[in-house]
Amino acid sequence: MSSSAAFKENVSRTFRHGVHPPENKEATECRSIERVPFVREYVLPLSQHIGAPSVATVRAGERVLRGQQIAKPGGFVSTTLHTPVTGTVKAVEPRLHPNGKMMPAVVIEADPFASQKVEPAERPSPDGISNKQLVEEVQKAGLVGLGGAAFPSHVKLSLPKDRKIEFVVINGCECEPYLTCDDRLMAERPEAVIRGTEIMMKNLGADRGYIGIEANKPEAAARLREVAPASIEIVVVQVKYPQGAEKMLIDAIMKREVPSGGLPLDIEVLTNNVGTAAAVADWFDRGVPLIERVVTVTGPGIPHPRNLMVPLGTPVSTIVEYCGGLTENTRQVIMGGPMMGMPQKSLDVPVMKGTSGILALTSVFQETAQEYPCIRCARCLEACPMFLNPTRLAQLARFEKIESLEEYHAMDCFECASCSYVCPSNIPLVQWIRMGKAMLREAKSKQ
Ligand code: SF4
Ligand code: SF4
Repeated sequence: MSSSAAFKENVSRTFRHGVHPPENKEATECRSIERVPFVREYVLPLSQHIGAPSVATVRAGERVLRGQQIAKPGGFVSTTLHTPVTGTVKAVEPRLHPNGKMMPAVVIEADPFASQKVEPAERPSPDGISNKQLVEEVQKAGLVGLGGAAFPSHVKLSLPKDRKIEFVVINGCECEPYLTCDDRLMAERPEAVIRGTEIMMKNLGADRGYIGIEANKPEAAARLREVAPASIEIVVVQVKYPQGAEKMLIDAIMKREVPSGGLPLDIEVLTNNVGTAAAVADWFDRGVPLIERVVTVTGPGIPHPRNLMVPLGTPVSTIVEYCGGLTENTRQVIMGGPMMGMPQKSLDVPVMKGTSGILALTSVFQETAQEYPCIRCARCLEACPMFLNPTRLAQLARFEKIESLEEYHAMDCFECASCSYVCPSNIPLVQWIRMGKAMLREAKSKQ
């Protein structure tokens, strides 16, 4: 028995329900993070996080230095954007966004003769700063959830006066098939993950921290354990999708339930991704804002799969080329993992803050072309980690029964796609539920 298999066997912590898609991580799980060469042009969409877009603070023709701010937050739920290279602003204009639309972006032409060294930004020591200062600094550093959701991190860290945080839970599960960027980050930079966790814990007054890791990442767990202080426990959890969803991870580690419609804050927990924790450390210890991230480039359509450190704004086409180009039989390219990622129509889109992976598949994942009637097998109910009734929700959305959607807790669905994955009738359940949620949101805003 391999050490990895033995490692898997003793693990019982998990949540109820969920699915077991093939992990498909072998191609990159042992590949160290490599830095990609700089390219000629970088495209930084102003909208690359949940919330209001950033507002450009530079104009065409301006010279910018790597790490310099190029856009300021467009509100509280918004963040700062920095240039990943030294060069010249070529334009602020609409460019193709990974969401398929043309969206405003800052386009930067890299200076081929610049050293591309980052001058450390001015920032305070994290020791003894107030929560308000921490929130300001994290917003200044442009940090967002790096697990894919790209929610501005400072918003989560902002502690209302009458609330407290007892536990910080850091998500190192990486439960999406194929992706290994968090795995490699934990294995190669465990000190940064721990340091960022400690900074957050200290500022929020949390006594205890947990880092949850799925059992298929033994090296990462071992490396973190070597450097973790007694106040931070490395918790190995079962390999199951969507173990990395914050509510599922809290359930697996602490057996606490986040109330319906509520937040981890309601049960005195803060959650964050391992990449975000390392980015907090990078800001306070090195003065480096979020200008690059680890991206897993993989799938059967990629000849040389890799984990790459990529400057934000790098065109996906150049990253794919760097990994050998797409094989001729590639049928789908997804940004992120196959379960929750965004399928792309063009490679002419940039790597963004939330881009955890570039996945090239030779068959379309969860192809739903041939749809059959529901056979009432209840597999979708057994898969749903939120204990929802996906088949009923999809039906309600299809017939626009908006009031009933609320009654059946449609907004608790976080679109993990487990229900669609198990449906033998290929019913696009998550797509219907997503539409139902949008209808519900619209009806509420009209009210
Ligand atoms: S209903 Fe939503 S939360 Fe439940 S399995 Fe489907 S997508 Fe996931
Ligand atoms: S899994 Fe598909 S076929 Fe089975 S009950 Fe759900 S919607 Fe119907």
